[in-house]
Amino acid sequence: MANEFGKIDRIEAGTLFGRRPRAAGNNARLGGHGIEVEVPLLRLSTDQGVSGFGISQASVEVARRYLGQPLSSLLDAQARPLPAAAAIDFPLWDLLGKLRGKPVYALAAASAADIKTPLRVPCYDTSLYMNDLELASDEAGAALIASYARADYEDNHRNFKIKVGRGARHMPLEAGIRRDIAVIKAVRAAVGANASIMIDANNGYLLNIAKRVLAETADCQLFWLEEAFHEDPELYAELGRWLAAEGLNVYIADGEGWAAADLMRWAQAGLVQVLQYDIFSHSFSKWLRTGAQLDAWGARAAPHHYGRHLGNFVSGHLATAIAGFTFVEYDETSTPGLDSSAYRVEEGCVVIPEAPGFGLGLEEATFQAAVKAGGYALTL
Ligand SMILES: [Mg+2]
Repeated sequence: MANEFGKIDRIEAGTLFGRRPRAAGNNARLGGHGIEVEVPLLRLSTDQGVSGFGISQASVEVARRYLGQPLSSLLDAQARPLPAAAAIDFPLWDLLGKLRGKPVYALAAASAADIKTPLRVPCYDTSLYMNDLELASDEAGAALIASYARADYEDNHRNFKIKVGRGARHMPLEAGIRRDIAVIKAVRAAVGANASIMIDANNGYLLNIAKRVLAETADCQLFWLEEAFHEDPELYAELGRWLAAEGLNVYIADGEGWAAADLMRWAQAGLVQVLQYDIFSHSFSKWLRTGAQLDAWGARAAPHHYGRHLGNFVSGHLATAIAGFTFVEYDETSTPGLDSSAYRVEEGCVVIPEAPGFGLGLEEATFQAAVKAGGYALTL
């Protein structure tokens, strides 16, 4: 069926640079994440004059393998990208949407008939890093992070994730634990009772620290604890038992970065309730397969996304296919050359345009400058 799509006759790659509205500070294990965001883009064009683009890190050698390929050779029987096309998965989904005149979420959905438009997918503000480390008092530190949360609330965010684990590296252990707790309480007070609040320790807690922080913030009704410590089924089982005994409804979330090979097994067993494989390194197509599996087990999906800008927009297209899709991770950025004006955040949701593909635009002159400055262009 896909033969009518033609073949790939041009591939261009270049990196755009975006900026966050404020610099992101430390997390539990790393120093400042800064203000600049790298956005490595790849554009596929067909001999019928249609093109699609998206995040891709494909080297010129890898990209060359796709040049001249009929699209049909990269798609399965349902016209979805094959694993062999993983390196160009996002540009290919965008291209397929443009060829078929449909948003990616409609192509990904099991049944496009039930989709309510415009599609609204819950998101959380992921920008609450440890920008408070220079401040001596917990009160001042907590007030600073709470002021960021409140500003992001004014920008229509309703759900927030806070970096914790200050005592793992950047502060003395006890002082760091106290600061984490003060920050969580201040953010809850700043954003009100209806917000979902998550905390992310980037593996900087121990089991007993996790228990203490969750016990002392019980009144804050946290939604999930992310990467409390390196994945360990014994410790997660104990944390789960303890949460149940305490009557705390806090989900255990994990899976970004160096995710344990057994993580899916632990999700099936209920030890981990929210899976967070990175949207780009896992790929859209693989997330569809993973999401179907998580749905079958009653687990949740919340793809990790940070520092690539486009994750704010593309992740939510999975929500029509994955029943347990819980949140888009939203890292506010603006990138000259990238037109994302069709998207908006409204009352804590990403509102997704009905435009074909991912509904994003590229400014030609800026992209061509990026292709020349360290990118590549391949033509058949
Ligand atoms: Mg994380």
